[in-house]
Amino acid sequence: MSDDPTEQYLAAYPPDLRAQVRVLIAQGRLADSLERRYPERHDVVSDGALYDYVSALKSRHMRNAGPLAKVVYDSRLHLTHQALGTHTTVSRQQGGNLKTKREIRIASLFREAPAAFLRMIAVHELAHLKERGHDKAFYALCMHMEPDYHQLEFDVRLWLTGLETGVRRAGTTARVT
Ligand SMILES: [Zn+2]
Repeated sequence: MSDDPTEQYLAAYPPDLRAQVRVLIAQGRLADSLERRYPERHDVVSDGALYDYVSALKSRHMRNAGPLAKVVYDSRLHLTHQALGTHTTVSRQQGGNLKTKREIRIASLFREAPAAFLRMIAVHELAHLKERGHDKAFYALCMHMEPDYHQLEFDVRLWLTGLETGVRRAGTTARVT
């Protein structure tokens, strides 16, 4: 495993930006800096509330996409992979009709996230209903739903990096004692 804490979530960003992040982490200021910029929390705690939240976003911006079968928090989506959520489209033949079920799973850690971060992940997963890859069309759709999308995705990755660093540090302490 790399010693560079920015390797996992921020590898796609410019080296100078990643260097700044390493400084913030080394100085123990990452969490504070995010807290200051994103003080607003959300109360979307239950799966029912999450379904309503994502459905509301969808009906505002993507009315033409088919209905959502399921939207849930998933504690099996771990920090180290898939934290940005999963989306599945299950097609099955039912009485001659091809039914498509759309499910969105969002990592449970977003329960505790700033409100803007939950919005970012919801927008990301909704955009995947129409665009599978992370290409131009995908990001255009994200921007349509959330004009500040790119900044938010960066800050979510920053937040995940901070959590990951914390976990790793806690892990090290646990092994030492
Ligand atoms: Zn994605």
